[in-house]
Amino acid sequence: MLENINEKCAVVGIFGHKEASKLAYFSLHALQHRGQEAAGISSSDGEKIKTIKDRGLVIRVFNEEKLATLSGTSAIGHTRYSTAGDDSILDAQPVFARYDLGEMAIVHNGNLTNAEEVRNYLIKKGAIFQTFMDTENLIHLIAKSEKEKLVDRIIDATRSIEGAYSLVFLSRKKMFAMRDRFGFRPLSLGRIANGGYVVASETCAFDLIGAEFIRDVEPGELLVFEQDKAPTSIKVFEPTPKRCIFEYVYFARPDSRVFGQSVYQMRKNMGAELAKIAPIEADMVIPVPDGGVPSAIGYSQASGIPYEMGIMRNHYIGRTFIEPTQEMRDLKVKMKLSPMTDTIKGKVIIVIDDSIVRGTTSRRIVKMLKEAGAKEVHMRISSPPTTDPCFYGVDTPNKEKLIAANMTVEAICEFIEADSLAYLDSESLLRSVNATEDNYCTACFTGKYIV
Ligand code: SF4
Repeated sequence: MLENINEKCAVVGIFGHKEASKLAYFSLHALQHRGQEAAGISSSDGEKIKTIKDRGLVIRVFNEEKLATLSGTSAIGHTRYSTAGDDSILDAQPVFARYDLGEMAIVHNGNLTNAEEVRNYLIKKGAIFQTFMDTENLIHLIAKSEKEKLVDRIIDATRSIEGAYSLVFLSRKKMFAMRDRFGFRPLSLGRIANGGYVVASETCAFDLIGAEFIRDVEPGELLVFEQDKAPTSIKVFEPTPKRCIFEYVYFARPDSRVFGQSVYQMRKNMGAELAKIAPIEADMVIPVPDGGVPSAIGYSQASGIPYEMGIMRNHYIGRTFIEPTQEMRDLKVKMKLSPMTDTIKGKVIIVIDDSIVRGTTSRRIVKMLKEAGAKEVHMRISSPPTTDPCFYGVDTPNKEKLIAANMTVEAICEFIEADSLAYLDSESLLRSVNATEDNYCTACFTGKYIV
């Protein structure tokens, strides 16, 4: 239950559809799990770009009236996660700018690893920044480029940046979508049933708006969308894929296809691998909802141990402004998760979760299950120990706060007060998702950073 690790955002772009902003809105709904702090949409009617963005969930930021003002046949959208104290509306996206070629808006999923260096260079050259977002670097780089066409300026700008980016740009007449050469973050291309194209962080957005998946935007590829034309592909960088394996572990929705494979199936595979490498006799397998569900199904099917719902999740608490006091700290978990006492009482249970970050949540879950009468609680984690932070667009705590960076598995087991604890190892995870270390990033488990 990765409440301390968060995907920083989702992007979407709609081109060539008369209800572009509405489709962007519905797509953002489907992508809400990738960021809940702010949402925004920019649309173009061919003459000018209009942007609406605000803090909050997509459903709070937009209504029928607001969407009606976002006219035109192209639109881009964004949902954002932000760290505490960094929730200014200025940092919500799309980022809009006027420059010598006209107007543009950008949405970005990822993290630029040389953002500070580029920003300092731009500031020395006289640029004035309005936000703390690395995305703003791109606006300045594009504005500063001496190329005549926007497409060449985008290429120019991306040659100065490093790190993780899935980007969608909107100009008055065109749309552009691009992934960094490593393809850390996903970005897929689809065709809308009654005309037009869509690009989105995950294919679950396509299903909602009735679009058909065509293919992923390739690492290092720039797609150009122009009226009455099929998208044109430009290979800006030689692809050297290092896709984020954590998309399969946790971020992506199980009904999405990410990097060409079903997320649900990959998670079931992880559970099946876990059953092979960490078997134990038990009465039932239960997931920590919702993240542990597909892996628990996989574990149950591979081991033959019945799958049960042992923990109920309350979906309606949202954000609570009352922080439980020290004495009431277990309340925080209990507000979200409740034990199914009649099911688990007196039973030996295997609990499947997707990861342990700080350990405090797992400890409270074990305590809650034991208080509800579970005889033994065996924790099984469907990913390797999270030992290193991410610099490629995922918000993780510092290394000092990652329990697996500072304790052995035995010590973590003792800390969370489980009867046993086992993780999936790196090789098994790679095997589960048909990957190798050559084409996937595994840095948060291995510390092997690429850039
Ligand atoms: S460090 Fe982890 S979360 Fe970040 S891109 Fe690599 S695999 Fe994904």
